[in-house]
Amino acid sequence: MRYQDLSYWFSTVDEALTPRPPLPGDADADVVIVGAGYTGLWTAYYLAAADPSLRIVVLEAEIAGYGASGRNGGWCSALFPTSLPALARRHGRDAAIAMQRAMHATVAEVGRVVAAEGIDCDWAYGGTVTLARTGPQLERARAAVAEAREFGLGPDDLALLDADEATARCAAEGVRGGTYTPHCAAVHPARLVRGLAAAVELRGVTIHERTPVTRIRAGAAVTPAGTVRAPVVVRATEGYTPALPRQRRTVAPVYSLMVATEPLSASTWAEIGLAARETFSDHRHVIIYGQRTADGRLAFGGRGAPYHFGSRVSPAYDREPRVFAALRRTLGELFPVLGPDVPVTHTWGGPLGVARDWAASVGLDRDSGLAWAGGYVGDGVGTSNLAGRTLADLIRGARTDLTRLPWVNHRSPRWEPEPLRWLAVNAGLRVMLTADRAELRTGRPSRRATLFTRLLGH
Ligand SMILES: Cc1cc2nc3c(=O)[nH]c(=O)nc-3n(C[C@H](O)[C@H](O)[C@H](O)COP(=O)(O)OP(=O)(O)OC[C@H]3O[C@@H](n4cnc5c(N)ncnc54)[C@H](O)[C@@H]3O)c2cc1C
Repeated sequence: MRYQDLSYWFSTVDEALTPRPPLPGDADADVVIVGAGYTGLWTAYYLAAADPSLRIVVLEAEIAGYGASGRNGGWCSALFPTSLPALARRHGRDAAIAMQRAMHATVAEVGRVVAAEGIDCDWAYGGTVTLARTGPQLERARAAVAEAREFGLGPDDLALLDADEATARCAAEGVRGGTYTPHCAAVHPARLVRGLAAAVELRGVTIHERTPVTRIRAGAAVTPAGTVRAPVVVRATEGYTPALPRQRRTVAPVYSLMVATEPLSASTWAEIGLAARETFSDHRHVIIYGQRTADGRLAFGGRGAPYHFGSRVSPAYDREPRVFAALRRTLGELFPVLGPDVPVTHTWGGPLGVARDWAASVGLDRDSGLAWAGGYVGDGVGTSNLAGRTLADLIRGARTDLTRLPWVNHRSPRWEPEPLRWLAVNAGLRVMLTADRAELRTGRPSRRATLFTRLLGH
């Protein structure tokens, strides 16, 4: 496949996407990073900025941004996959609040670097509006705000909106209220990751593309072309991690799929809104997410694609006609102004990483020099920046506010062996999809979905 066809975003990056030279043979480095998505590149960026003398090598199986980083919904948000109560239960209330504040600051930090490095990625700091279109969704909106208040977050962080306020931001059908947070920017994700790759190269980092790593061990990343020896090896492979030896049960790759419409007319936008390019969603169980792109399209996605047995990842799974049809239907329900035949021009998808306890983590094992970050469950655009800054501190041996955050060196349990993993992930997905359909039909909350969410404890 041509890299331009990976996503709508890749088709509009304004560069040839010619792969950088692969690793020519054995090499030595101070830090070798496996994977050139946001995680790997942010780590390289902050390490090189802190210590320009470090020899940093990034090894990428395809091209920079090939994974989720070049295909996502472009929400650079302060969302963190573990809820505040779950973080507080595990690490205490202060640690939970520190984590959330660090995520808020992260959105601003990405914006700072985008401006400082001149990365042209359509950055729009417009926040997120999350709509409530049923009674149960309205209850969840109220509960989200009440929970935020319990943790000291005020209306400036998360505001409850009535029907008029929510509709003024995003005039979807049947809006009854919602929530708004300013802590999110809409970005062109592929331009962000490609711009970041160029920025790290300017700082002296070497990126080898089309260089798949077949094994990571203490002190080395092994490829068919040669081995890069380094005292620190960073695994930044997110949804692709299970393909590495001994990592099959580290994260479960779950697919998220997207569609993009043709550019919409000014009159259509006048009816829909999103004037500040707010990212948007609603309070259903199975996540949907959208943004108004800089060139006037709706880019819209959701989970709902099946998990594939054995944690397999394949380009064949990036496109599921059934899920694209459902996304198109949902867009039409949200915005009837799009007409009965929603004008979709692009469809794509990709894998993201889910840890068994739904907890993203970042860490470095001092004895082996093995470092990692990931398990972002679809919130990695912002979180990977925090991961990169934290890894840079850990690798340089600095003790900072970042290295004290509760996700640092957290070890998630491994997923169950198959077929349990396949049964559990797909059963959970089915419960949530069925609950959302029933709620839209009846207007009543699904008890099974509530129970399931409680069981997951996040
Ligand atoms: C459709 C979709 C929509 C999403 N929407 C959002 C969103 O709106 N907001 C948000 O916050 N998050 C979103 N996410 C999640 C977000 O994109 C990811 O969390 C984030 O990009 C992860 O970055 P990463 O660098 O850790 O992983 P990736 O971007 O997946 O990068 C991993 C890289 O490692 C390379 N690699 C893998 N194995 C090897 C190997 N053995 N050797 C060498 N290289 C290897 C891959 O080729 C890839 O380039 C979405 C994800 C998807 C799929």
